[in-house]
Amino acid sequence: MAEYTHILAAVDLTEESHLVAKRACALRASSGAKLSCLHVIEPLSLAYGGDIPMDLSTIQEQIQDTAKIHLAEFASSLNIPEENQHLIFGRPETEIHSLANQIRADLIVVGSHGRHGLALLLGSTANGVLHGAPCDVLAVRVGN
Ligand code: AMP
Repeated sequence: MAEYTHILAAVDLTEESHLVAKRACALRASSGAKLSCLHVIEPLSLAYGGDIPMDLSTIQEQIQDTAKIHLAEFASSLNIPEENQHLIFGRPETEIHSLANQIRADLIVVGSHGRHGLALLLGSTANGVLHGAPCDVLAVRVGN
């Protein structure tokens, strides 16, 4: 079977991201693939819409600044060069698909909690990424 050539690791920058990274790095080592990483910032306006009657732009900027620093630290610990680090605003599933298309990734690596019950019904990011993915998806078991 052909080796992967470009792996996209999608990370939420929580502690669990290192499990996703570990698997993505192991695959990079065995296949010689290029590795890119992506963190998606969900706009507060998308999450809260008109529910909070205040200007969220300052908080949004702080979130972006913090995410930028954390993504850079995360990526440099994995030897991912700056041009392969992506910070994008939007909905995670949509942006992960869109970037995978754009950079012609042939494998997306995400974390999966294997949740049950209501969370399963509502769907997780891993589920969302799997549906309609333009390439293979590896869901790495993280947490519970
Ligand atoms: P969740 O279903 O939200 O617990 O997330 C499961 C996995 O989806 C994470 O381990 C990441 O691989 C990916 N993911 C979730 N949120 C984001 C995000 N904002 N940016 C990039 N990847 C994400």
